[in-house]
Amino acid sequence: MSEDHRPIALIMALRKQGILDRRVLSAIERTPREMFVEQPFQASAYENHALPIACGQTISQPYIVAYVTEQLELDAKHRVLEIGTGSGYQAAVLAPLCRMVYTIERHRPLLKDAEARFAALKLHNIVTRCGDGLAGWAEQEPFDRILLTAAVVEVPQILINQLKPGGILVAPVGGFAPTESISQHLVKIIRTDGATTSETLIPVAFVPMVPGLPREA
Ligand code: SAH
Repeated sequence: MSEDHRPIALIMALRKQGILDRRVLSAIERTPREMFVEQPFQASAYENHALPIACGQTISQPYIVAYVTEQLELDAKHRVLEIGTGSGYQAAVLAPLCRMVYTIERHRPLLKDAEARFAALKLHNIVTRCGDGLAGWAEQEPFDRILLTAAVVEVPQILINQLKPGGILVAPVGGFAPTESISQHLVKIIRTDGATTSETLIPVAFVPMVPGLPREA
């Protein structure tokens, strides 16, 4: 298959898997995933699976990126917080679908690479921060949407507090020892006035959310 057809083949695969939101599919189609993966994995950039990135982390499977993006029910006016920038791929997919993406990463080298990709793609509505995302982003709250792209055992209340009423938070919740990888599920929390509702979605396998900063940051 020639390179130019790979994004189309990926979109067809995602449609078969049940991703039907045209805006989400179009954002995925327009985001060159080969820019977000390391050199040795270029040939697999459009295959529908997760790949390793620097600092022992992973870029999520396109199906999962598409699925969570659909679940966020984005609107062009939304301000979205992503915790776990990683390669920047998920943030780049969110950017054309909302007003602003605020993304936090604890590994500075990953964040630097992601920032260079956002600049090259002229994604000027992504704001980055190096830090511990478990505290959220107090200066920019409240958010319409919050997405965690690393797994937590429990969604921290501080993050739910940074959601607007009516806001949606999506997070992988559960254990992350290798033998327990399928014990995680995506959870969708909707904040209503004074309460929250929670829905368990599909099983997933994300890297763990790690508190604090690594030594090099
Ligand atoms: N969204 C990414 C994939 C993320 S992998 C992409 O599209 O490529 C999860 C990321 O979360 C990793 O890069 C990891 O370093 C980061 N992470 C883990 N714990 C964190 C924390 N407490 N604060 C910020 N980032 C964190």
